[in-house]
Amino acid sequence: VYVLADRDRLTLIDGGWAMEDSERRLTEALRSLDFDTADITDILVTHIHHDHYSQAVAIRRKYGARVSLGAQEQPNIDAIAAAAQSGRTPFDAESLRRLGADDLAATLGGRAGGPSPHGSEMSEYPDTWLPDRARVRCGAHDLEAVATPGHTRGHVVYRDPDQGNLFAGDHVLPHITPSIGFEPAGSRWALRDFLQSLRLLRDMPDARLLPAHGPVTDSAHARIDELLEHHAQRLDQILAAVTERGSATAYEAAGALRWTRRELSLTDLDPFDQMLATRETAAHLEVLAWQDRLTLEERDGVVGYARR
Ligand SMILES: [Zn+2]
Repeated sequence: VYVLADRDRLTLIDGGWAMEDSERRLTEALRSLDFDTADITDILVTHIHHDHYSQAVAIRRKYGARVSLGAQEQPNIDAIAAAAQSGRTPFDAESLRRLGADDLAATLGGRAGGPSPHGSEMSEYPDTWLPDRARVRCGAHDLEAVATPGHTRGHVVYRDPDQGNLFAGDHVLPHITPSIGFEPAGSRWALRDFLQSLRLLRDMPDARLLPAHGPVTDSAHARIDELLEHHAQRLDQILAAVTERGSATAYEAAGALRWTRRELSLTDLDPFDQMLATRETAAHLEVLAWQDRLTLEERDGVVGYARR
């Protein structure tokens, strides 16, 4: 969470995760700067994930801050609200079956019998839906909200071109590659969109990278180049895995890959991470099909990919 202060506004970039400990830490940090949580006037949220959005809404409830979010996140909030109403978690087993992950769907489905573990904050709309390239008043320097779909469909980054700052949310992270395809109203084009959003920022002037997780670094472009390279390699690895087998579902292709820096196999990951890995692999397979490097065929509700 970043804070930007001027005479009549106290703006947060992202709100954090609505938890007692998290609110206490935020309050302590603001006090060290001679502010109070009640002074927050605006919260500019980068995307709908609960570690960014839920505490923004919690602070609004308590202190009346205005919350802004990218306009394209609305389908995600609607899906979260609909799932909460029906007592399900927003990540349905059906979409995992489409990826060939029946066992995993059963494991996760069995666990996810109760209501969503996150509070009702996640179902509330923001005060302002920001369209692409919206100018946001923020003290002496206006910020520009730039739509960067991919990590989630409605992710935005906030640029301050005067100061050379880029509040990148989870779009560009210094130490990890942002997850792709983990959102309730998921898009099959998440990775294609993500790569296009990286190139969009690469074509803008370089800026200091202020990410939502990890340290501030001098160059957003340097990290974007690494992320583009990572996904190019990953696409090649997945293409090779499918080519070797002849054809594969996303779950089978994920099983042929190594995961995390420790090069674990898929089944070494816990079921939740296996779900993320399978969705991530599916996003890469969609790009390979879109690039005409693989063919796609759906049979009995399961999507398979094959070498050309
Ligand atoms: Zn996120």
